[in-house]
Amino acid sequence: MILRGARVALSPERAERLDVATAHGSVKTMGRVPGRKGVDCSGYLMLPGLINAHDHLEFNLFPRLGNGPYESASAWARDIHNRFRETIQEALEVPLRERLVWGGIKNLISGVTTVCHHNPWNEVFDGRFPVRAVRALGWAHSLEFSADLRERYVSCPANRPFIFHAGEATNGAGKREMHILAGLGLFAANSVMVHAVGLDRESLALARVRGCSVVWCPSSNLFTLGKTLSRSVLKSDLPIALGTDSALTAEGDMIDELRVARQICGMSEARLYRMTTDAAARVLRLSHGEGAIQAGGVADLLLFRDRGLTPAQTLLSQVPEAALVGGVPQMVSADLATAWRTSLRQLSRFHRVTIRGRGTMYLRLKTPPIREGLSLAGRLVAA
Ligand SMILES: [Zn+2]
Repeated sequence: MILRGARVALSPERAERLDVATAHGSVKTMGRVPGRKGVDCSGYLMLPGLINAHDHLEFNLFPRLGNGPYESASAWARDIHNRFRETIQEALEVPLRERLVWGGIKNLISGVTTVCHHNPWNEVFDGRFPVRAVRALGWAHSLEFSADLRERYVSCPANRPFIFHAGEATNGAGKREMHILAGLGLFAANSVMVHAVGLDRESLALARVRGCSVVWCPSSNLFTLGKTLSRSVLKSDLPIALGTDSALTAEGDMIDELRVARQICGMSEARLYRMTTDAAARVLRLSHGEGAIQAGGVADLLLFRDRGLTPAQTLLSQVPEAALVGGVPQMVSADLATAWRTSLRQLSRFHRVTIRGRGTMYLRLKTPPIREGLSLAGRLVAA
């Protein structure tokens, strides 16, 4: 496939007008491609597909549950299981496979093309799933909910990220948990700590020395704990990737998460761009060029309307009009679908869906049944 005439993001600040040719799932060439074959992308800005470093894909049809802030994630979990038992039961009646696919769609429509799912691998990810799920990783839930945390860590190859919830508490327990984890050898170069709200000065220093990484889920942290990573952590050189977490606790999708993150401490658009692209790829040790647009790398590409802004400014202010995974269009907005209809025949087989606040779009994969009142990460879905 040849995408012609877009400005192509080469960094958070820089984009150049280039044709991008894809083949066999990768970017083949970038530059001037002779001929007229392909789709017209003039007037659009091309960004790399985003990386969501933390989600529980099966929980994205749930409403946000809880009346926090709580002193810990376990206090939150106990409370919602007591008070929202029926709501949870009802949401669990939708088959797992269906919920996972909707979780993939939530990610796709917000520009995420690679997601790190924090729960067991499901065969649905091996088939035609809307986005890539990261497979080469080790994981455990947390110190409290994984009695075998240390064994799981030891059995994870050192060249793969090991992902676990860490220090998800504000009552001193979070700090103590960080110190216990350090004692267990969990402060290591491949450790990816999700939430890490309990990082204090001492554990932050150790994490930096050992080369640990953190996944930041600001809206989820603020909802459950009323607090998120400290300024000193956010301003440190600790590698940080952004994660949405699931609809149970998060504000919405990756677009919402970027907005919340931006509001918190005036972090630059460029840093947030990196937290969802190349920095996230390094944290998750992705090795196929994810998080960048480059010859030989995966052709995971987004198109936004070009308003003359930088790639980072565009990401923080707009929603994507198209998302390609491995060079295959998976989501195309209604406007772009009209423009591309003659050059991209397969669009006639795409499935139309309207999602509140995200507009009408065409998806390559058939959506699972759209049940009465279906809400995807807080947004109503209609056929
Ligand atoms: Zn989580």
